[in-house]
Amino acid sequence: MPHARAAVLRETGAPLRIETLEAGPVAPGDVLVRIHAASLCHTDLEAIEGSLAVPLPAVLGHEAAGEIAEVGAGVAGLATGDRVVLSWNPHCGRCFYCERAQPILCHEFLANGPRGFHFDGRPRLACNAEPVHQLMYLGGFAEYCVVPAQSAIRIPDRMPFERAALIGCGVMTGVGAATRIAALRWGDAAMVIGCGAVGLSAVQGCVLAGAATIIAVDPAASRRQLARAIGATHAAEPGEAAELARALTDGRGADVVIEAAGRPDSFRLSVEAVRPGGQVVWLGKVAVNDEVGFRWGSLMQEKRITRSSYGGATPARDFPLLAQAYLDGRLKLDEMVSARIGLDQINEGFAALKRGETVRSVVVFP
Ligand SMILES: [Zn+2]
Ligand SMILES: [Zn+2]
Repeated sequence: MPHARAAVLRETGAPLRIETLEAGPVAPGDVLVRIHAASLCHTDLEAIEGSLAVPLPAVLGHEAAGEIAEVGAGVAGLATGDRVVLSWNPHCGRCFYCERAQPILCHEFLANGPRGFHFDGRPRLACNAEPVHQLMYLGGFAEYCVVPAQSAIRIPDRMPFERAALIGCGVMTGVGAATRIAALRWGDAAMVIGCGAVGLSAVQGCVLAGAATIIAVDPAASRRQLARAIGATHAAEPGEAAELARALTDGRGADVVIEAAGRPDSFRLSVEAVRPGGQVVWLGKVAVNDEVGFRWGSLMQEKRITRSSYGGATPARDFPLLAQAYLDGRLKLDEMVSARIGLDQINEGFAALKRGETVRSVVVFP
């Protein structure tokens, strides 16, 4: 069983602690992944701050890439040395939702996720024989992690790990919102609210889907500038955005609005700025028991609203496509990496994420 340096959350609100854990056992159906890069996402921050209840101690990290170090019994299609991006949505393939092609709602996935272990309820990490939980079946802030084989998605060998990691959560969610959920059509007018990693990825999804107009909305001038640099045709502050959308569409509003800010004002803006009959995709979130109020008229006229957690991901289909798009120069990931850090700097990395200074900091393992 390999030893793995890992960032461990032992107490919410306290810094992560760098500890050495034992990674394993590699049960039938598992793979051991040597992590090369893992990026910091807001969902990890929610776990640290306690708004996402995670059983402790736990290793966070759900945007990660690495190589297969060991293959468990019964695993087909993966071999030692394969380069992989991790998916946080393992699913049983047999339940009501899996049968209906909605793996993100898989009964087993939702039932076992909050327990922080695999579907069999058993740990795959330990610290001196004490079980350690894994966030979202992964735990990428560690030199090694044991994951269900279906969570390890093979990508081309040429794909750099520190770019590949981003694909696993933020990029998939943002690009997928445009290409899989909104099913944006060539020539459409789109708006993306919030230009963090997910929003910047949604902008790129709009480009890939052929939107003619892409309005990026963010209060920070630097974020708007970044959005323009990766494909937005227009940029606006939140207060001007709905008016701009109407000005660019003969008064109708955007065909598609993707919300990626997670603020009540942003949810309200999304439905005010979309045209009658248009599609709204909400990716952001507020605390589950919070209420968000809307002007009723903003919801009328056949508007469609979808809330999505993973951008309609089918990781085995989509991750290789995203990696190839990066290698072909059609998907820009370099621009989204604000900092490369060591595991020892992870707490400063989360502090910078919280202050809004970084799009993505990537922990790189030597
Ligand atoms: Zn299922
Ligand atoms: Zn995430």
